[in-house]
Amino acid sequence: MRCVYCEGPVVGHEDVMVVSGLGPSHKRCYEQEQHKEDWMEFEGIVLESWDNERLLELKERVLIELNSRFYKTQAIELF
Ligand SMILES: [Zn+2]
Repeated sequence: MRCVYCEGPVVGHEDVMVVSGLGPSHKRCYEQEQHKEDWMEFEGIVLESWDNERLLELKERVLIELNSRFYKTQAIELF
């Protein structure tokens, strides 16, 4: 019996779980895999396929958006 993610043996391992449709897996490997999928895809966009330039532009835009929201909130609280 081997883990479906890392292909290491699961026999004798403490945290083993069965992934439906796949097979046995270490609990840690399963959690890492879930996290990886969540992280790699956001709103249907696979960030891994973007080049650094586009990622940096996105980062910049997100920061600008967050900053402008922060200042809007601050302004509302002040007046
Ligand atoms: Zn594993």
